[in-house]
Amino acid sequence: MDLVAPVVVEPLRSRRCSECRRGPLERMILEFNAPVCLDCADLGHLVFLPRGDTALTRRAREGSTLWAVVVRHNRRRTRYERRGLLVEEAALAEAERTCLADAEARARRRARDAERRAALDAEVTAALRAEILRLFPSCPADRAGEIAAHASAKG
Ligand SMILES: [Zn+2]
Repeated sequence: MDLVAPVVVEPLRSRRCSECRRGPLERMILEFNAPVCLDCADLGHLVFLPRGDTALTRRAREGSTLWAVVVRHNRRRTRYERRGLLVEEAALAEAERTCLADAEARARRRARDAERRAALDAEVTAALRAEILRLFPSCPADRAGEIAAHASAKG
């Protein structure tokens, strides 16, 4: 979509829609400096996604055919700050599903890596134990195992 995303403002003072007179408005757009509510601006079906989760935000935005940036003016810093996005509900739901699936895949990968490391540690320990017993045949087998486990854990 090549259109510039509409900018939605969270007003600092009480504002009414210049078209339907509803108010005070939580969020609005400005058309020729006149406040217009989201329903009159045909954005009423969008849902708010607060900023913070980069992957979720990107996916929800990419999945929405229509989305808007939500800003609020920060008086102290004298500039507008991004609060989040308005996106289509279905796109947000799909983005949440995808992010959850990713998180599960990451958790599964971590578990597999941990298993692999544990298996590798066990192999190294067994090899060290055999080597210690070969070099020091008088070393008690239990003691060789302890030394090997200790050495293997230290890497
Ligand atoms: Zn209105």
